[in-house]
Amino acid sequence: MTKKIGIIGGSGIYSIVDRENSEKKTVNTPYGDSADVFLFKINDKDVVFLPRHKIGHKLPPSMINYRANIFALKELGVNQIIATNSVGSLKKDNPPGSLILPDDFIDFTYMRDKTFYDKEVVHTDFSQPYCNRLRDIISKNGDLVNKGVYVCSEGPRFETGAEVRMFQKLGGDIVGMTGLPEVVLAREKKICYSSLSIVTNYSTSLSEDKLTMKELFEMMEVKKEEVIEIILSSIKDTPLDYECDCLI
Ligand SMILES: [Zn+2]
Repeated sequence: MTKKIGIIGGSGIYSIVDRENSEKKTVNTPYGDSADVFLFKINDKDVVFLPRHKIGHKLPPSMINYRANIFALKELGVNQIIATNSVGSLKKDNPPGSLILPDDFIDFTYMRDKTFYDKEVVHTDFSQPYCNRLRDIISKNGDLVNKGVYVCSEGPRFETGAEVRMFQKLGGDIVGMTGLPEVVLAREKKICYSSLSIVTNYSTSLSEDKLTMKELFEMMEVKKEEVIEIILSSIKDTPLDYECDCLI
């Protein structure tokens, strides 16, 4: 099977799909059906786009079938994934509009199936959760912060002020709801995984205003073309065959 590059994102970056020349399919996995995936080519490289909330933003973060999605991508030959995640900023120096490539995470989710190893004892190393090779490639293709701690909350509600102060004290830089357990499952399947996190807002308590979905979607719209350009150039730059610590 040809090696492919996976792109996981919200339906905000759906326009990256070459609609005239793409094949749409759902993959049946031991964990249920994956979200619809779109197979097409970018620069002669096979890519697979998976909109994790499904087209039209239908699935809340806790209800996404992360295991089926990652299993499906692996089955299709994906060995590296560029994911996009919209996040809130926990620090004033990463204002809305910033693009961040996290290099670590803290997991506060509790309602999700977080591992493929629920029937055998396998402990996976997570000292370097995100692929350093892929992060370096992506970071050269735009104005990005190549470091940061991604805190994942369960959602779907936004964080309270006290939670945000706790995340800040723990060393968090950004907070989102979709990054986990995707990054964990990808590593368990030996897939290189990088998150391009788009800061859509300041988190509660850093902003005077109430947080609404509207401002998130508006910022995604503003950043959409830039993010797609970064993904396209990064796909051009990343080889399909490579050696990486994630594969060991
Ligand atoms: Zn890697």
